[in-house]
Amino acid sequence: MKRKINFNAGPATLPEPVLQELAKATLQYGKTGTSVLELQHRGSAFGEILEECNALVHELCGIGPEYEVIWLHGGGRLQFCMIPMNFLPEGKVAAYIDSGQWAHEAMQYAAYYGDTKIVASSRESGYAHLPQWPARLPAKAAYLHLTTNNTIYGTQWHDIPACSKPLIADMSSDILSRRHDHSRYAMFYAAAQKNLGVPGVALAVVHKDMLRKAARPLPPMLSYKAQAAERSVVNTANVPGIYTALLMLRWTKQRGIAAIEKENTAKAELLYGQLDKSRIFVPRVSEKAHRSQMNVCFTTNDMAHEQPFLDMCARHNIIGIKGHRYTGGFRVSMYNAVSLADVAALVDVMREFEDLSP
Ligand code: PMP
Repeated sequence: MKRKINFNAGPATLPEPVLQELAKATLQYGKTGTSVLELQHRGSAFGEILEECNALVHELCGIGPEYEVIWLHGGGRLQFCMIPMNFLPEGKVAAYIDSGQWAHEAMQYAAYYGDTKIVASSRESGYAHLPQWPARLPAKAAYLHLTTNNTIYGTQWHDIPACSKPLIADMSSDILSRRHDHSRYAMFYAAAQKNLGVPGVALAVVHKDMLRKAARPLPPMLSYKAQAAERSVVNTANVPGIYTALLMLRWTKQRGIAAIEKENTAKAELLYGQLDKSRIFVPRVSEKAHRSQMNVCFTTNDMAHEQPFLDMCARHNIIGIKGHRYTGGFRVSMYNAVSLADVAALVDVMREFEDLSP
């Protein structure tokens, strides 16, 4: 059966060459005589996978050896827990920018471990735009947490102002989608199921200065310091998930971040351009400087259009555009593996729908 044009927000579509490599490795990994699903987590083949993953993260993010690259279980939400566990000591406060549901949840999870403070929020407006960057941070702030791309609401920080405290960023839905100065961060992290592969795995990149600040004794599984010291193999690692991340990193390198950014910009221009001139579809984020290149959210001027449009997309082999249950409407996720041709196919259907609608 023909592959669908898949705009799901995550787990997201993966590049076909990556799937083919994965299929081969599922039957036999290299010359090991075993599947990647059976590969030993403390064996030399997996050691090489990890080493190449870490080197590619350093290279593609343009960061030096002062950063530790760690591969963890538990997706994005476990990072919401580990960050305050590791970096929020008693007597300090964790500052959060509340720019969307994930940003908000990250703060709610942190509140289990210590004092938190929202220093900027656009919650009142339903996260339809980015909040104002905080003019000041509490003197006691241990870190400032930011979500660079708000997956559910379709906003993205394109310019990140200066920050006087260690900056920690959730880049789950826009990592490696653009050229970006990663050296600004004390830590950045991403759930893998968008630009980095499959669910369950998370990438955490932590500056060594930050690791030295680790707040309290923790079981090794939950300690960045122990995970870094054990080279991400405190326990049985998610070998196939991390191998998939390696295939994604190789694919990303082969294309180049600058070329990926160029295509992501072209995709966004095409879809927002169509929305801005539409008489039926209404973009959710009106402030152009706040619009996400990764997740484009929109509604229709009449709810009655929704199901017929979804049906028309399905007839054209397009899936995954239903909006998140919190927002309704539509969300088109255009991560790196979605091509300009995929977006053009969707825009053609939008035009056809408009032409056929009274
Ligand atoms: N942060 C962001 C920005 C996300 O988009 C998501 C999930 N879509 C998460 C965190 C949560 O990830 P997980 O489901 O792996 O916990």
